[in-house]
Amino acid sequence: MVELRTPEEIEQMRPAGRFVAEVLTTVSAAADVGVNLLELDAMAHQMIKDRGAESCYIDYHPSFGGSPFGKVICTSVNDAVLHGLPHDYVLRDGDLLSLDFAVSVEGWVADSAISTVVGTPRDEDLRLIEVTERALREAIAAARVGGTMGDISQAIGDVGREADLLVNLQFGGHGVGRSMHGDPHVPNDGVRGHGFPLEAGLVIAIEPWFLHTTDEIYTDEDGWTLRSADGSRGAHAEHTIALTDDGVLVLTARDWPAAATRPRLRRT
Ligand code: MG
Repeated sequence: MVELRTPEEIEQMRPAGRFVAEVLTTVSAAADVGVNLLELDAMAHQMIKDRGAESCYIDYHPSFGGSPFGKVICTSVNDAVLHGLPHDYVLRDGDLLSLDFAVSVEGWVADSAISTVVGTPRDEDLRLIEVTERALREAIAAARVGGTMGDISQAIGDVGREADLLVNLQFGGHGVGRSMHGDPHVPNDGVRGHGFPLEAGLVIAIEPWFLHTTDEIYTDEDGWTLRSADGSRGAHAEHTIALTDDGVLVLTARDWPAAATRPRLRRT
């Protein structure tokens, strides 16, 4: 069932969006060569405690998960692209890292993801991140009251196709509200003018993700992490947005430069 939010409720969702943006900015800035994924999870966990927020992940145990997730942030490295379970891994020069984070603040959830490269980037990885971020921007630009879900979905698919990337339809975006995953589904490809009607009060997470040379994934033996079938790397971008009669509100907007212009961060 799709629940539409009142303008007052959307206002109440802003703190969750701002906090998710703050955590992703902080954790992605800390991600560097020599940093353990468990340190990044611990950092996010401490921020959650300090904020008095509630993790959406730690007890998350859907039918497809082998056990409760047990961590507070997804860390997907290189051929891992979604649902990366943080584990004892030290980041290496050139690793492509995707972070996905959802949390509940004062009873409302926000969900967002970002990809970055630690150390010296490969040009092809920066391009993949740039395309994925562009797909998200185009999808947000296509979202408007009176439009359809297909407008959003086709915008993502078009960007992927123009970049000669394959689009996977197994995992996409979703409604966001009191809980992390709700209706409607937000497919990462579709047909403009078709699908679910976009109304004021709809709050959704839009999350394009692409792999370099395949659209097939498999689940790692950890029961969570989704990896590319051919070992090629992936990138992920996600924002939670609210559709209003005054336009689209990007609840999880960050002040963070695009991949191509991002300064390299070094540990001192
Ligand atoms: Mg997410």
